[in-house]
Amino acid sequence: SQRLLGKIAIVTGSSSGLGRAIALAYSGEGAHLVCADLRPDARADVEAELSVTTHELIKKNGGRAIYVQTDVSSSEAVENLVKKAVEEYGRIDILVNNAGISLEAGNPPLKIHETSENVWDVTMAVNAKSVFLTSKFTIGQMLKQDPHPSGDRGWIINISSVLGLIGGTTVSSYCASKGAVANLTRQVALDYADVGIHCNAICPGYVQTAIFVNTVKFVDDKKLQALHPLHGVGSPQDLVGAAIFLASNEARWITGVCLPVDGGYTA
Ligand code: NAD
Repeated sequence: SQRLLGKIAIVTGSSSGLGRAIALAYSGEGAHLVCADLRPDARADVEAELSVTTHELIKKNGGRAIYVQTDVSSSEAVENLVKKAVEEYGRIDILVNNAGISLEAGNPPLKIHETSENVWDVTMAVNAKSVFLTSKFTIGQMLKQDPHPSGDRGWIINISSVLGLIGGTTVSSYCASKGAVANLTRQVALDYADVGIHCNAICPGYVQTAIFVNTVKFVDDKKLQALHPLHGVGSPQDLVGAAIFLASNEARWITGVCLPVDGGYTA
């Protein structure tokens, strides 16, 4: 049976990588999608079909999806995203905060004394402030609508990172932004538990996507394998099981969790 049947899901950063895999998997589980990205065809995913955007592919497979062009770091854009979702479907059940960036990676990554203020500000805006904005407007809507038939009122899933849980000799602004997302997850979970809104995070290890290619292309394969003792570096598909579960009714008693999905990176 379909585990997200009839649920309305916003997925940010849906054009590429993890967001694309999650949006497609959610549709396969019976959810109706709102795909939000800067570009419909960011498609930096190493695996994705070149010419078909995520929302087009969902429709081709018989699912329901709309695309809303969105800069998740802009308050007006996020307010518009929520408005478009409600115009189309009348409600929002699931929010996946997945859009993210990692700037000025290199070999070795820039240390904090070499990092520009602009890189810090942009990274924090796209990776962390975005989660504040989407949560603010989506929760506002969830509080106005009738609860889901399960009795719960919503499921928020934030894509943090192993680098939001532990340190690493890598981009400092990225690590700080992902740490912010992890603790905001716990805070939102506690603030809205009494109204039945779940808020959990997934903390992936390294996954083969555009960010990965740009950030860790210089790290040697043996080192990457050692960081992820179980199966080495992941693929976007390795994240979808956790993303479906945390948005499903099966997660009834789960909130405020930052779940590593990382091949043992943080074990
Ligand atoms: P990706 O680059 O393939 O996908 C990111 C998507 O976000 C792109 O489609 C991009 O257009 C979109 N995006 C970027 N800025 C945006 C903005 N301002 N507004 C709206 N959309 C925007 O990378 P990915 O690996 O799929 O990353 C998805 C998430 O997973 C990110 O939050 C990333 O930090 C996190 N993550 C990735 C890895 C990894 O190794 N790939 C590891 C841990 C966490």
